[in-house]
Amino acid sequence: MPLKSGAVCRLCRHIGGKLFLKGERCSTPKCAIERRRRSTRGRAAGRGRRSTLSEWGVRLREKQKAKYIYGVLERQFRRYFEEALKRPGVTGQYLLQLLERRLDNVVYRLNFGDSRRQGRQLVGHGHVVVNGRKVNLPSYSVRVGDVVGWKEGSKGRDFFKVRTEGIPSRPVPSWLTLDSEAMAGRVIGLPQVADLDMELDTNMIVEFYSR
Ligand code: SF4
Repeated sequence: MPLKSGAVCRLCRHIGGKLFLKGERCSTPKCAIERRRRSTRGRAAGRGRRSTLSEWGVRLREKQKAKYIYGVLERQFRRYFEEALKRPGVTGQYLLQLLERRLDNVVYRLNFGDSRRQGRQLVGHGHVVVNGRKVNLPSYSVRVGDVVGWKEGSKGRDFFKVRTEGIPSRPVPSWLTLDSEAMAGRVIGLPQVADLDMELDTNMIVEFYSR
């Protein structure tokens, strides 16, 4: 179930850092983490909270962080891990690919949404097509060669103009290309660690589940 807007910043506070879950607001002084930093600034140096997390706790936090970033619940996250585990090679790499290939993430990475959360809404409300066919499943996993775009009927809507004016405002990762004339993106490869827009240690997540 999607989180209410007010609850989203709580996830960043839980992790203790910015997860950029709210789009443009995250880069403004209104960000809850920034406000907290400002309110604690000036307090005695060295009095800051020290991390007392165990090794297990650090790995748990990394797993929670990934779940929050991609908006995935525990059961589905675990399924991704088990699917990645079945593949030969580096499990963390496959896990990353499964997360990044989610359609809501692709919509965000193509700049059609200003957060993964908004990407999920656009997909869920039926505004997104894959290879010309409407797909309203945010967890849909794109494949190399897929073309992701907007439903024709959505292109006349106000939010389409707002969302697509001047894009891309963020870099498009190397495994996607964006045709900003056609407002469509193509999957041209598989996501790599270097393509991530957030720091995430997927090996720690694998270690967490393998304990
Ligand atoms: Fe809220 Fe975004 Fe700041 Fe996180 S980074 S606390 S989601 S405004």
